[in-house]
Amino acid sequence: MSSSKTSEKRCCAVCSYPAPNRCSGCAQAFYCSKEHQTLAWSKHKRLCKIYQRQNRGEPVPSPDTYCGLCGKENGPLRQTQCCNRTICDDYDNYTPFSYSANSCSRNHDRYTRCCYHYNEKHRGKDPLQCRKCSEDHDAEKEAWYMTNNFNFQDDILRAHPPSFAPKHCTKCGKQVKQNAETVSVGRSGIHCEGCSENMVPAPPGGMPRTTYRFKD
Ligand SMILES: [Zn+2]
Ligand SMILES: [Zn+2]
Ligand SMILES: [Zn+2]
Ligand SMILES: [Zn+2]
Ligand SMILES: [Zn+2]
Ligand SMILES: [Zn+2]
Repeated sequence: MSSSKTSEKRCCAVCSYPAPNRCSGCAQAFYCSKEHQTLAWSKHKRLCKIYQRQNRGEPVPSPDTYCGLCGKENGPLRQTQCCNRTICDDYDNYTPFSYSANSCSRNHDRYTRCCYHYNEKHRGKDPLQCRKCSEDHDAEKEAWYMTNNFNFQDDILRAHPPSFAPKHCTKCGKQVKQNAETVSVGRSGIHCEGCSENMVPAPPGGMPRTTYRFKD
């Protein structure tokens, strides 16, 4: 697992911040840092092999034979309702309130533009072109919904995410990545994990928690 530099405007698959590094295996996965590349590797490694074969012009398995989020071939697999693509049928992996990110189906359903658009029953065939979706989230969330690795690869590659300014903890000034770190959000702004009260962090590689209440 190594990375090379990219000059394209790409977003990190984990946090959606600008991604100067891309996977040097397949050149199709983008990261802000080694840390986030490492975090994403277990889900990327199978897909990486498929993309590498594609890049070399070799035959690749048909997209309906593996999960488009983690590359797993030996199922159980299902079709998504939002976009009718193949994904792990793995809702059972998820323990309620655990904040683990171990269910491909749940991750796609909860954390992508594709499924948000479907759940909100917006008109328009293409979620990535939907203005209503854009109005519902701030730019950082919007970028993340479009480019995180819970999306299918072709959507990630054709997305035009908005740029956004990094946010900082209003208490200590530390930069916070709201979609990849545990934060709390309230009237006076955003607090990092250390400055938030009573926050239980997610397990390693899990989904960060966001709470919307803190004492001002
Ligand atoms: Zn990142
Ligand atoms: Zn790769
Ligand atoms: Zn999967
Ligand atoms: Zn979808
Ligand atoms: Zn929409
Ligand atoms: Zn802080």
